[in-house]
Amino acid sequence: MTHPSANLMPVEQALEYLLRTAVSVNDGEKVVLYDALDRILAEHVYSNVDVPPYDNSAVDGYVVGAGSVGVGQPQELSVSQRIPAGTVPLELQQGTAARIFTGAEVPQGGAAVVMQESCQVDGDRVTLPPDIPEGQNVRKAGQDVRSGQMVLESGRKLQPQDLGLLASVGIGEVSCRRRLKVAVLSTGDELIEPGEPAAPGKIFNSNRYTMVALLKRLGCDILDLGIVPDDYQATVEALSTAAGQADLILSSGGVSVGEEDHVKAAVEHLGQLDLWRLAIKPGKPLAFGNVAGKPFLGLPGNPSAVFVTFSIIARPFIEKLQGREVQSAAKVMLPVGFSVSKAGLRQEYMRVRVVERDGGLSLEPHPNQSSGVLSSATWAEGFAVIPPGRTFEQGDLVEYLAFSGLGI
Ligand code: AMP
Ligand code: MG
Repeated sequence: MTHPSANLMPVEQALEYLLRTAVSVNDGEKVVLYDALDRILAEHVYSNVDVPPYDNSAVDGYVVGAGSVGVGQPQELSVSQRIPAGTVPLELQQGTAARIFTGAEVPQGGAAVVMQESCQVDGDRVTLPPDIPEGQNVRKAGQDVRSGQMVLESGRKLQPQDLGLLASVGIGEVSCRRRLKVAVLSTGDELIEPGEPAAPGKIFNSNRYTMVALLKRLGCDILDLGIVPDDYQATVEALSTAAGQADLILSSGGVSVGEEDHVKAAVEHLGQLDLWRLAIKPGKPLAFGNVAGKPFLGLPGNPSAVFVTFSIIARPFIEKLQGREVQSAAKVMLPVGFSVSKAGLRQEYMRVRVVERDGGLSLEPHPNQSSGVLSSATWAEGFAVIPPGRTFEQGDLVEYLAFSGLGI
């Protein structure tokens, strides 16, 4: 007898296959910095200036020359000029001090700045403390960025601090990949839209909202095709529209093997499809193929399975399509606050919270891990990854994936 896990595809294998298949959008466009948050850089960015552009003072105080550095007793000097931020100083007269403010350029001949709290001022004379170290309170030109240096790499998804860094080197516009357009189909005759009155035999379409929002978080444009009935012809039509306009087609439901599941036949009619039985829990049925040459990903129907399969399988695939550098974050291992006594056949993504326990951190699962229970995902902060074939005692370490690290 073959083992029941024999024809389940491991998660890593599915991911590896998808990432190998994904063809990134190539066309770029200029984007002004103001609108570039979360966009994907299409080329390396280099600075052609030093940041800071000149040596400047880290404090409000008095700047002195080399002759006043390292002197073993207090010195009384005259104040020869005043240098507010944004002005261009004169060369420092040796044997004098100059009043200087935070961010102001250190004058030629300036060797150190003494903060004003350490100085005594009497009219236009200032008394400085002994033993002023060379370079004290001077921020050197180029200490942040050097002219010619690469500041950001192609494929990077622009973060708020990246926009600040680009601005700091004077770049007001960047070349980014075109935004990926994703068509979204919610299949099922039982679905009605939230806002409509509840009706017998019907449920509200939740997957549409989960999928569209997850896609928006990834910075995709959406072609929302709404509810697609369990009907071969309707599915073919929705898929054709999707393939005509989008870079990727994402559906939920209709990929099991029941006779009401029409996605398989419709995709095969227009292109090609593999129905995978993935070793993932929740999840398992997942369809991958193409419709008229456009990649197609058919997620399961159960809402929690949609959340998990999107986060784990679809997200890296989409990031690759976007032209983004898919970085694997460092693995975080945390102790489980529960035991797993029966080894599973599928890799389980339990919805968990991180709690404090016995002076350390511990993973606490939502009590209902059913694939239809979406409240587990709302309650949780991340996934505990339980590999197939493994049991766990309380306190054993498992991999923890925070939702924040998955762009959720
Ligand atoms: P299916 O794979 O189409 O058989 O769907 C599996 C389960 O997910 C069924 O209980 C469906 O009612 C449910 N389901 C499918 N699509 C959605 C949706 N868009 N929103 C909420 N539940 C859904
Ligand atoms: Mg269905």
